[in-house]
Amino acid sequence: MPEIAGTEAADIVIVGGGPVGSALALALRDSGLRIVLLEARTASGGDARPLALSYGSRLILERLGVWTALAGAATPIRNIHVSQRGGFGRVGLSAAEAGFPELGYVVDYGRVAQALAQAVAKTSVQCLTGARVTATHGDDPARVVYEYAGEQREFSAALVVVADGGAAGESVTETIDYQQSAVTARVVSERPHNNIAYERFTARGPLALLPDGENKGEGWALVWTTTPDHARRLCTMAPEIFLTELRAAFGGRAGDFSAVSGRAAYPLQRRRAQPAADHIVLIGNAAQTLHPVAGQGFNLGLRDAWELAEQVNSRSVAVLGSRAWLQDYQARRRVDRGAGIGFTHALVELFSNEVLPLRLIRGTGLALLGCMPPLKNFLIRRMTFGARG
Ligand SMILES: Cc1cc2nc3c(=O)[nH]c(=O)nc-3n(C[C@H](O)[C@H](O)[C@H](O)COP(=O)(O)OP(=O)(O)OC[C@H]3O[C@@H](n4cnc5c(N)ncnc54)[C@H](O)[C@@H]3O)c2cc1C
Repeated sequence: MPEIAGTEAADIVIVGGGPVGSALALALRDSGLRIVLLEARTASGGDARPLALSYGSRLILERLGVWTALAGAATPIRNIHVSQRGGFGRVGLSAAEAGFPELGYVVDYGRVAQALAQAVAKTSVQCLTGARVTATHGDDPARVVYEYAGEQREFSAALVVVADGGAAGESVTETIDYQQSAVTARVVSERPHNNIAYERFTARGPLALLPDGENKGEGWALVWTTTPDHARRLCTMAPEIFLTELRAAFGGRAGDFSAVSGRAAYPLQRRRAQPAADHIVLIGNAAQTLHPVAGQGFNLGLRDAWELAEQVNSRSVAVLGSRAWLQDYQARRRVDRGAGIGFTHALVELFSNEVLPLRLIRGTGLALLGCMPPLKNFLIRRMTFGARG
């Protein structure tokens, strides 16, 4: 084993400078603590997966001071239309009905990650890019071993926050392989998007068509969940064949599709993890990885980060990372995390099954939801602000 070149001390070490780790670093910028962020990559950006941010996430990003940098790249969602292919029942959700200015916003993952990373770089947080964490030890203080500039180094800290997106795969308590992949792409259609997001449930999985860019641009961001084999073919087939398949799956609500670009596939799993050691906490995808069907993963992770920072900022540093401190945090996040994970999984189960009674139940459910404004508003509030205990 290579020798450790040196050990430094910090109060909090954040492992992973993706959108959730960076949001935490920003939320802790005025804590007066020594915060270190270790990110394996050397540059952010490059991942064009569309993220649907809730209105609640916008409010957090505003408080973090990054919304202004993102607003120009964010396309508002004012209406959501949900339907199932080959079945009756549909429901429309609207911002005006729910009493919100907007239901959400569509922004590229890369833009969000970059805006947050740039904001962190302007704070006193020590941010090391190209620093790959190879081990975390939950002692008191905890230790983080990382590789940087060809050397093994180490930080000790009262609290280590793992926000690596689940890359280390440590402390995983549950994995469900959905046997599905999500294909993301940009598509162009005949009609302007009018800030409507479509969610269409098909036999192979849900297909989301999200408004992307200026309304006159007729651009959409596509998230098409399907079998892994079909996803591979969708990414490599000729564009005109792709568009023919898309027409068949989505129908004519957006008019005819004329172009596709930037196809990429992501395998889908649900994963939950819980740290087995003191002085270590997991947030964002490191704690829970969700199916993208309800667009909840980052929104939930952002609330993980925000609430962790609130707890750090409101408690004595003397108890930071202690067992009781960590248990308080887990208790604080239990209801919101449980609701987000449960709701997302229920949608996948209910809408990925072509058994006739289920199709009828789905249709009836969608039709009923459409006639029950209080239930619709409850659903929108939950998806906007999360669940409270
Ligand atoms: C197709 C698709 C569509 C999605 N759509 C939505 C949506 O509409 N709305 C929504 O809210 N969510 C959505 N999500 C989920 C969302 O992308 C994730 O929840 C979010 O990216 C989690 O952020 P994170 O920072 O926790 O993890 P990540 O984004 O995975 O970032 C982890 C960071 O840690 C770094 N890292 C990893 N290992 C190490 C190491 N050993 N040392 C140092 N650094 C390390 C990585 O380089 C990376 O920068 C979608 C996901 C997919 C796949």
